[in-house]
Amino acid sequence: MIIPKSVSEIIELLEREGFEAYVVGGCVRDSIMGIPAHDYDIATSALPSDTKRVFGFCKVVETGIKHGTVTVLYKGSCVEITTFRIDGDYLDGRHPQNVEFSGNLYDDLSRRDFTINGIAYSHTRGFSDPFGGARDILSKTIRCIGDPEKRFSEDALRILRALRFSAVLGFEIEERTKAALIAHKSDIRRVSRERVFSELKRLLCGKYAEGVITEFAEVLSEIIPELKAEIGYDQGSKYHNRTLLEHTAAAVGAASEEIRLRLAMLYHDIGKPLCRTTDENGECHYYDHANISAKIADESLRALKCDNELRESVCEIIKYHDMPIEPTEKFVRRQLSRRGYGLFCDIIRAEIADNSAKIPKAAERIPMLKETLSLAGKINSEQPGLSLHKLAINGNDLKSFIPPSPVMGEILSKLLEEVADETVENEKAALIARAREIYKSK
Ligand code: ATP
Ligand code: MG
Repeated sequence: MIIPKSVSEIIELLEREGFEAYVVGGCVRDSIMGIPAHDYDIATSALPSDTKRVFGFCKVVETGIKHGTVTVLYKGSCVEITTFRIDGDYLDGRHPQNVEFSGNLYDDLSRRDFTINGIAYSHTRGFSDPFGGARDILSKTIRCIGDPEKRFSEDALRILRALRFSAVLGFEIEERTKAALIAHKSDIRRVSRERVFSELKRLLCGKYAEGVITEFAEVLSEIIPELKAEIGYDQGSKYHNRTLLEHTAAAVGAASEEIRLRLAMLYHDIGKPLCRTTDENGECHYYDHANISAKIADESLRALKCDNELRESVCEIIKYHDMPIEPTEKFVRRQLSRRGYGLFCDIIRAEIADNSAKIPKAAERIPMLKETLSLAGKINSEQPGLSLHKLAINGNDLKSFIPPSPVMGEILSKLLEEVADETVENEKAALIARAREIYKSK
């Protein structure tokens, strides 16, 4: 296994002082899979106080001292070094009551979640893989270390971690592990929303998210209860040949792996079951479902402690995900002035993902949507960031003849559209004259 020089030097320094030290967890798994590791965690028999002493010559931060973790800043890299440990009893389904340090690597690997994450390696001692993690990596299997029932009841976040690894790596969850995670799904409610949301985001951005959402919708409904109504839901529409859940999962999978878009696709139709009507031909319609879905997403993302910026952009995309699109300069200019470049492009990307998840006929719209997207790029590069603050006047310039009222905002927006359409020049006198005209006609 290839380890960065700084990391192998840290291991050597600990070994020279008589301790055992290994790289463990995600970096070993990724390296066996041939994926570049993003960080290297070290496990050692040294106690945190020993580690601090060995690295007395560098900066050492006590990042998780309760769990035996210190972070060493060595030759420009930050490396977490954790003492081998045994986790005490889990009484709350989230955290061990206490942790006990151990001198034994096997103990430390036993407390880890899945076999694929329970492998250690060092240049001098080679691989230590007591639970068959390498075999499971080769057969693409996620399997709990030890008794799955016990492991999920200890820490229900592991349920979502299993789904996340499956969505990111494309691994199957082994049958006993799968049965136990389903049986314990309601325990997810005991886990902090922040930890849940962090795993959900990674799951959604996985290359294999579609399959995981489809297979484990019951589990995800513990986090987003409205998702449950999508399971097996027949949309009664000639544009769809899948259930609402299958369509949603396919739309998530079709969107680029960016969290804004993936979340938007997850929630984009979630309000549909609440606003179904059936016409005389038996065709179902879902008027206003975009707004209702955006509202559900807003509440759900608040509950998940999503940051405001992400929540707001996701809800805006959902709100407009089925708006009519025209591949014309006029339309695109207006949209850019109304919504801004970023949001407008996201809306079109969402429509592309949505249409890729319907009947093949719907996909015929995709070239037109792509054309609109490139038109937006072209206009934006010529006239970047056309928005109210780029207008050559503001409310102050109009207040001598327009009293403060919502009309002021409407007039400014109208002026912006006209500048975008190039029917009025973005110049102070011209804009004031035009504002007077609009105000008079109101
Ligand atoms: P990545 O860094 O790509 O998310 P990872 O496997 O390194 O993957 P981390 O969250 O960084 O995941 O955790 C490091 C290691 O700690 C894991 O590989 C696993 O061995 C162990 N681990 C993490 N979370 C848990 C948990 N909830 N229960 C048991 N072991 C865990
Ligand atoms: Mg990691």
